[in-house]
Amino acid sequence: MSPARPNASRADIIAMLRDGYSNLRISRELRCDKTRVARLRSELGLPHVVLQPLTLEQKWASKTRPVDGGHLEWIGERAKTTNTPVMRYKEVGYSPAALAFQMQHGRPPQGYVKAECGYPHCVAPDHVNDEAGRQQQRLARRAERGLGDIPAKCVSGHDLPAHAKLEPDGTAYCGMCKVEDKRAQRDPSVPRRTRHHPKTLEEAFARHAQPVEDGHVRWTGSAASTTPTIWFGGTTYSAYKVAFRLHYGRDPQGMVTPGCDVPHCVAGAHVEDRPMRQRTNTLFTAIFGGAA
Ligand SMILES: [Zn+2]
Ligand SMILES: [Zn+2]
Ligand SMILES: [Zn+2]
Repeated sequence: MSPARPNASRADIIAMLRDGYSNLRISRELRCDKTRVARLRSELGLPHVVLQPLTLEQKWASKTRPVDGGHLEWIGERAKTTNTPVMRYKEVGYSPAALAFQMQHGRPPQGYVKAECGYPHCVAPDHVNDEAGRQQQRLARRAERGLGDIPAKCVSGHDLPAHAKLEPDGTAYCGMCKVEDKRAQRDPSVPRRTRHHPKTLEEAFARHAQPVEDGHVRWTGSAASTTPTIWFGGTTYSAYKVAFRLHYGRDPQGMVTPGCDVPHCVAGAHVEDRPMRQRTNTLFTAIFGGAA
């Protein structure tokens, strides 16, 4: 990149002129004087190249980079404090995530747009969602997990149909309680809402284990992809493992999964560790024979 590099030859410049590049582009690429390029252009009687400015979408696309898993990384500007992608086009500021949403849905988003695919600040058009879309996705996740209707009141007696918010995994929490918690944090004179924290892992488990028909137990707590999880004493536990330990009074060996066909069932009698699964498989083979 030294400026002392030999100047471009006349033939090089002419070749690029004939290829239809602009004077600016040629002078930059060949590191030569722009007026020299312009002179050659008129000498040869070649038309001027008018630079087509990028469209909003083209500029957006030029600032993105595909990442494994179908995600799209923003390689353009970001907001300093939040690291959120931002973009400027013709003196106007845009949210790259909102533009991605508009491209995907053909309409402007309602509310804040973001992706919940796990890739931080992903701007893949099919990964981002607006407020309404997120709510829909979470309700679907809730239905998938069989978490049922949102209760009428929260533990503090707030009206849940009005205040309930959903987590990405479909679990519900009270938005009013959260607001009050935040208020109390800012102003220490406001009495802290007395929140009952579980004292044991067993208590934490019981809080979210809801017996349903046929001995199955539905998990109403949070879940990491396929495993129901318990947050207790600063650690995340698999609810399957806790259910196993409570039921059998011993630690499981290997992974614990439900042996029944109800998704996320945490019934102690239904979960199995590795040796139990192996026994079940052997028994199955003994009765029905090997794979056909
Ligand atoms: Zn993504
Ligand atoms: Zn509440
Ligand atoms: Zn079950």
